[in-house]
Amino acid sequence: MWYKPYGRTGKKISVVSFGGMRFDNPDDIDANAELLLHAHAQGINYFDTAPGYNAGKSEEVFAAAFKQMPRDSFYCSTKSGKSDGGQLRADLEKSLRRMNVEKIDFFHIWCITSADQWPRRKAGGAVAAALKAREEGLVGHVAASLHLSGREICEIVREGLLEGITVGYNMLNFPFRSSALECAAEMNMGVVTMNPLGGGLIPNDAGRLDFLRGSGDRSVVEAAIRFNVSHPAITSALVGFTTKRHIDEAVAAVEDFQPYDAGHIENLKSKIDEGFDNLCTQCGYCLPCPEGVEISKLMEAYNHKILGQGDQDIVNRLNWHWGLMPEAAAACVECGQCEGKCTQHLPIIERLKHIAGLKVK
Ligand code: SF4
Ligand code: SF4
Repeated sequence: MWYKPYGRTGKKISVVSFGGMRFDNPDDIDANAELLLHAHAQGINYFDTAPGYNAGKSEEVFAAAFKQMPRDSFYCSTKSGKSDGGQLRADLEKSLRRMNVEKIDFFHIWCITSADQWPRRKAGGAVAAALKAREEGLVGHVAASLHLSGREICEIVREGLLEGITVGYNMLNFPFRSSALECAAEMNMGVVTMNPLGGGLIPNDAGRLDFLRGSGDRSVVEAAIRFNVSHPAITSALVGFTTKRHIDEAVAAVEDFQPYDAGHIENLKSKIDEGFDNLCTQCGYCLPCPEGVEISKLMEAYNHKILGQGDQDIVNRLNWHWGLMPEAAAACVECGQCEGKCTQHLPIIERLKHIAGLKVK
């Protein structure tokens, strides 16, 4: 396994890490814990969960695995989405009890999905409570998981309160977030990337995306993982594993791998530009919308339909990843401003109408 320094923390984490967001059999704690143990045996040492993952059972799965792993051989990451400092503290204490650990190595201010949320987390005392817990030794390092544009992430990163960030970054959305990685590198911060496989889009549409595979890549999934870990600013790619085979494939992708050089990355970029003419690339040029429509998030969710998935996948993506409901698209007054600026020349208004009409099951 290849390990990279997590920013200025002095810790080194595996370039592939374990995300416990969902498991195929949510109630089978022991079988799911086996996955963590298998990953650990392959050299993965960063395990990321959250109180709400896997219908609230993910932390139980992690506890079942952690008690079988030497404490100094892994790092544990969890989160709180509370703005109120007291409530964040209660979440933290519950996570410590539930996972039966004395410290959360990386504690995240969770799920910042719009620019106004970070000031709210500070004003409510959540950020201060996390930093206090670090002083007390209950938390090793304070990070945040951010679903914002590169520019918005830079503003947060430059405040200097955080030691790391967890951000969505992959072959499909990287133009939207590249500047965030540059800022994090300037601040010597750890960067963990969530959704390196595009929220399942890349493995689910591997045939169509096969052109992204380089000559040495055995699969487009391997190419996607390598794309992330080759970036000098990225510490680790967080993958939501549900089978041992997926773990083995991801570990094999980085074993004895020489990071892609700049020329290869540029070549990939040009392929993406050519091949993704009807996909939203998350560049953010359409923003801001005068009506406050979260265009890039809604269009990213619509990508899931284009890549062969159904309307329910749009709804799930909006809800689970972006914290939005389909009616968020209904605020569009069809001024056309965004379509004039869209780098992909997407029919944004038509897609927003489609999303606004979707029913939540
Ligand atoms: S067309 Fe709709 S989404 Fe686009 S800028 Fe105008 S109001 Fe916003
Ligand atoms: S809708 Fe167009 S301009 Fe907006 S983020 Fe997507 S590709 Fe970029």
